[in-house]
Amino acid sequence: MGLTKPLIHEIARKTWLINELGCNNMYVLEGTERSLVVDAGMGYCNFREIVESLTDKPYDVVITHAHPDHIGMMHQFERIYINRKEIEEAPPRNWGKVTTKGGMDTINWLTRKDFDMDEFYMNNNTHIGNWEVWTPDESVICRGDLDTEICYIQEGDTFDLGGGRLVTAYDLPGHSPGHMYFVDEGEKIAFTGDCVNFNNGTRFHSAYRHCLYLLKFLSMYGTKYDRIFTGHQTYAGRLSFKSQDIRTVEGLLEAHRAYLKGEGYTIEMRSRALHPDVFNPTMCYGEGPYHIEVNEPPCKWADDEPHIIP
Ligand SMILES: [Zn+2]
Repeated sequence: MGLTKPLIHEIARKTWLINELGCNNMYVLEGTERSLVVDAGMGYCNFREIVESLTDKPYDVVITHAHPDHIGMMHQFERIYINRKEIEEAPPRNWGKVTTKGGMDTINWLTRKDFDMDEFYMNNNTHIGNWEVWTPDESVICRGDLDTEICYIQEGDTFDLGGGRLVTAYDLPGHSPGHMYFVDEGEKIAFTGDCVNFNNGTRFHSAYRHCLYLLKFLSMYGTKYDRIFTGHQTYAGRLSFKSQDIRTVEGLLEAHRAYLKGEGYTIEMRSRALHPDVFNPTMCYGEGPYHIEVNEPPCKWADDEPHIIP
């Protein structure tokens, strides 16, 4: 038998990482006046109960992006904050059994009440690959049924938690149309969802534009944040919780630059992390230890962009 409950780990002062069955990370940050919750996972725990066991302050819930492993439990809360594009420009998706039309149709599917274990197995198979560590069953499913108010945020919006703990929202689309990350200048941590990990993606804009976003993120390193906590700490099924190495982000930038320079790509059959018997054809851009892996090549420059390499 494996674990059936989320792991809660204190990663900084009054800052908790909640790992939902190995699949994804959510965070609770507490200031002297208020608290902030970052992301709302899938639906395999009573997340609200966990939040309220960690903090007795009033709190807001922000969502990095509207993917099933980050927005799944939004109906446990009265209100969430998210970039407008994540809702209005949520793309049509094929979820196997169901195809959604995009926009609220996609969001409603992602947060539906008649939820099952499929999402867990899909995420586990794709990202985690460790079937022994977590073994939940239907009894853990908890989606919530509140009529949640969706409030929109944009780059520069801040959440003042008190005691000098100010958290600012920034754009970094690519993995999704309106992906945001949140920089907590109090504890100097960037909470980045999926925008700067190995799953960062380059859809929705050019590789050139993506370089600019990555450069902006990197420019704050050392001053506004010195640790990065992502949406998926345990991709490889390990029970360790460490901040992501900044070199991963530098490597992503180098890979995009290599692509813009025309250094080309390869199509490789790559095995999944801990499922070495499962292979996917993947395009890899960039040489050296870092590369972008996507299924379709991003455009290099949009029509109105200068043909330079940032
Ligand atoms: Zn994710």
